[in-house]
Parts: sequence; C-alpha cells; structure tokens
Amino acid sequence: MSKVLNAFLTENLKELREQGLYNEINPLEGPNGAEITIGGKQLINLSSNNYLGLATDESLKELAKDAIDKYGVGAGAVRTINGTLDLHVLLEEKLAQFKGTEAAISFQSGFNCNMAAISAVMNKKDAILSDELNHASIIDGCRLSGAKVIRVNHQDMDDLRAKAKEATESGLYEKVMYITDGVFSMDGNIANLPDVVKIAKEFDLITYVDDAHGSGVTGKGKGTVKHFGLEKEIDFQMGTLSKAIGVVGGYVAGTQELIDWLKVRSRPFLFSTAVTPGDVAATIGALQIIMDSTELHDKLWENGDYLKAGLQKLGFDIGASETPITPCIIGEEKLSQQFSKRLMEEGVYAKAIVFPTVAKGKGRVRNMPTASHTKEMLDEALSVYEKVGKELGIIS
Ligand code: PMP
Repeated sequence: MSKVLNAFLTENLKELREQGLYNEINPLEGPNGAEITIGGKQLINLSSNNYLGLATDESLKELAKDAIDKYGVGAGAVRTINGTLDLHVLLEEKLAQFKGTEAAISFQSGFNCNMAAISAVMNKKDAILSDELNHASIIDGCRLSGAKVIRVNHQDMDDLRAKAKEATESGLYEKVMYITDGVFSMDGNIANLPDVVKIAKEFDLITYVDDAHGSGVTGKGKGTVKHFGLEKEIDFQMGTLSKAIGVVGGYVAGTQELIDWLKVRSRPFLFSTAVTPGDVAATIGALQIIMDSTELHDKLWENGDYLKAGLQKLGFDIGASETPITPCIIGEEKLSQQFSKRLMEEGVYAKAIVFPTVAKGKGRVRNMPTASHTKEMLDEALSVYEKVGKELGIIS
C-alpha cells in the first residue's frame, strides 16, 4: 500500500474511534421489519425508514417475483439506450399521479436523483439558497452544479427573504433556487412551505423540495407539498422510493417540460443502468397501496404519537419533532453511542446519530416507529428507555 495512504487511513481512523465518531455496522440476519435479528439476537427495531412496513409486504414480494419471471433480474442498459422497460414508464406515470404533477422521472436512488436533478438545471452562473440542515445528497448536488451555494439558517424565513433579496437584486446570477427537505430527517420537523412559496413568488425563486421522509408519511401519505396543497407551486417535488415506499430509487415530479429536460440532462439517467424490473414492479404496487388507503399511514401516526408521548413523559428531549421521526437529543457523542449500545444490549435497536450526520455536540438516538410496530413492542421499548436512560443519567 502507498505509505502516504497508509498514514492517512491509520491516523484518521484512530482519531474517529477516539472521538466516538466511528459508526460500527451491524448486519441484519433477516428482513428490516418491526423486529430484526442481529448476531442471533431478536431486537425491537426503531431505526428503519420502512415507515409503512412495505419493504416486507407479501403482495409486493409477489409483484417483484412475477416481474423477475417476466423481465429477468436486470434492466440491461441505461434508460436512454434500451434499459427503459414499459414498467419504468408505468412507474413514472404513477409517480406523477401520486404527486399531482404533469410528469415524473425516476432514478436509481434518492441520492443520485438529487445529484442529477440539481446539476441538470443549475450551473455556475446561478445561486442556490439551501437550508443549513439539508441532506448530504442535496449538499453534494449543489456543489456538483457549480452554482454559488448560500446557506440559509434552519427554517428561518427572515434569513431566507433577506438572502433571496440580496441574491436576486445583485444581478450576479441568472437563476436563484431555494432548496429544502420537506421533513428534516434528524429532527422530524416539517418545512414551512407556505412561507417558502410566498418568498419564492416575490423573488421568482425556483423551488425544490426533497420529501424523502415526507412521502408516505405527511399529507395523508402523499407528502409535504400535498400536506400544504402546494402541488402547483413547487417546481421540483423530489422524493425517494426507499423509505415509506419500501423499495429503492428516487424521483422528481414536476411539469412535462421540466421532466423532458431532466431526461436529456441528468447524468445518472443517461449513464447509469436502469433500476431492476423486480424493484420497479414492487414500487408501482407500493404507490398503489398508499394511494388506495390511508390505513398504514394512520397506524404509523398512531404509533408515532404513542412513542413520542411516552418518551416525553419519561423526560427525554425530543426536540422539534412534528412527525413520527422522534429523536432523543443527548448532546455528547460518546454518551449517545453508549446509550444506543446499552439499548441494544437490552433488546432495542435505535441507532446513535452523531457528527457529521448532525452538528457536533448534537448527538442523539433517533427513533423511527413504523406502521408494523405493536403497542406491546412500543411499551417494551419505552421500559428499556426508562431503565437505560436512568442508568446513564440522561433522565432522572
Ligand atoms: N434525501 C433525504 C432527505 C434523505 O434522507 C435520503 C436518505 N437518507 C436521501 C435523500 C437519499 O435517498 P436514498 O436512500 O434513496 O438514496
């Protein structure tokens, strides 16, 4: 190995481990459901994004198997050569219907969707106003575009207005975009989209909402833009198919012209192989389930409210959560890791989230209840939280 690489890796890994910032990975020995098995041990799972339990839905597994039988396991090419199956077209029609837009484009993941879509429209002559707590894929997409990135204080509409005024009146930029998560994944709070739209109208901002954690969860399942009734106002409704939808992939829903442009300018659409037939078929089925009934959505919120109330009663700091995503904010990284480790020993899997995923000193254990949890599981989890929380002096 190169000496310089060896020194770089040894030094940096040591530092991360010493600071409690090195995340160990625990492989699951079965499905990522309400309960999981790790190292032969069954645990109550409060760490998945499988909000509606669709990742393990029996009818979706059947759809995936049937599609594999009909089309094979791979799409065989990138979308623009001959990797577009009729299933991909059907998926994009469903996504447009789901989001209330003229059209949609799908990608292999939410991460590459953000990289692709932002950089397909924005360039070095432009500016992007970006909420400071936006997801890493937004940050990387903004960087890739070459546009000037202007960080906006988290959910601070006065700051957004001031920076939008300055950027648009400076005459320095051709286009100015505002980009935000719909639901912030580390705190579970919802973006103030009505005010965003007002400011965007005043300054002709392009609006981009990444609703990875909102789709299937807010707006009776249809997402945060729908929650506020702003389908005609937000330019880019971006989302992932890997969380509440339960499978894998990302998408943008918007006007026909926007989607036409993304289909010729998004590099992963042009240069990376299309999503597999089994995944696409399962995704179409999942969207249909969400559009047909709010049963799973209602159960998710019932469980979320129950867990949240229980954690608050025990004295945990749950921050600004407005959705089923409920953090227990602890602060110190090592204590957050220790808390998570002890929870696991006691039968609950809730992962510690530390820097760089959240700011330094804002370590937490994040709880993600789903529609598949039973009240008994949540009660058991709460009693473990009480025991471990008291033992580590996090609650009294
Ligand atoms: N955006 C947000 C807000 C996310 O939380 C995530 C997933 N962590 C992504 C995008 C990326 O989605 P995917 O996992 O489908 O790549």
